[in-house]
Order: sequence, then structure tokens, then C-alpha cells
Amino acid sequence: MQSETHFRELCHQHQLAATHQRQLIYETVMAMPGHPSPEAIYDKVRKRIPSISLATVYKNIHTFLDSGMLREVSLHHGSLRVEANEEAHHHVVCVKCKSIMDLEESSMESVLVRDKLPQGFQVKRIAVDVIGVCLACSSSARQSGTHSTRIRKQRVRKTVHS
Ligand SMILES: [Zn+2]
Ligand SMILES: [Zn+2]
Repeated sequence: MQSETHFRELCHQHQLAATHQRQLIYETVMAMPGHPSPEAIYDKVRKRIPSISLATVYKNIHTFLDSGMLREVSLHHGSLRVEANEEAHHHVVCVKCKSIMDLEESSMESVLVRDKLPQGFQVKRIAVDVIGVCLACSSSARQSGTHSTRIRKQRVRKTVHS
């Protein structure tokens, strides 16, 4: 039971009680790629513990976040997202569809804040959020843009006629 030992060690390091329920939730998150929401995690956990509630999953996710066993992703999209990727990295966030993509740390070598931080500030991690609009969202916006212009033109023509 390698994973169980690993989980117990992690809980010990983070001063958490290693319950069976917590282990299942943690394992589920670690097996999910990307940046799942608590609801998506709940959907998977429920397959292993059918009696579990969304509130319990939320509570445990927050416990993991507070203890540092899991990470919370950028708040710019307005809802909680969790991630298992423990490598230092940054995020590219689309404000329209709320998609979050990872950007490897080396792609942002110009993060020179370490020298400028308040004295005594202990850095846990440095993560930069690149906020914008993804290609899919910007091209669909352009399409609906031309569409509404066309409608407007038709309306104008009608008013001229009448
Ligand atoms: Zn988008
Ligand atoms: Zn990420």
C-alpha cells in the first residue's frame, strides 16, 4: 500500500488527520488533470463513496487548501478551482469561457520580485496569471459582432424605406 503510506506521511507533514474519506478525495484530485472545480471532484468521489455530500467534499478540499496539501488556482474566473500540478507554473486564464491553461515556469523568467518583497516575507510560490480572451472566444465574438452589424444595417435600411 504505497499510496496509503504516502498519504499518511503527507497528512503528518501538514498536521492533518489521515482519514479514509480524505484519502479517497485526495487521490481523486491527484488523478484529475487540469484544474477541476469542487463539483467535478464531487462527481468522481461520489462514484467511490456514494453517500458523500458535496458539502463534505467542499469542507475537505478547503482543509487540503488551508494545510497546503492542495493548491487553489487563480481567483480571476470567480470560482474555486483546485489543482494537483505541484510543479511551479503560471496560468493563462480566459475571462470569457473561464478556461485555465498551464504555462511552464521557465516561460516567465522575468519574475524578479524576490528582491522587491517586504522584508521577512517568506515566499511559498510565485505564480503569474495571464488574463485575456482565448482564440475560440475572440473568434466567436467577432462572428457575432458581424452578425449584429448586419442586423443593424437591415434595420437601418427598413427605416429608410418606411
Ligand atoms: Zn475562452
Ligand atoms: Zn495549473
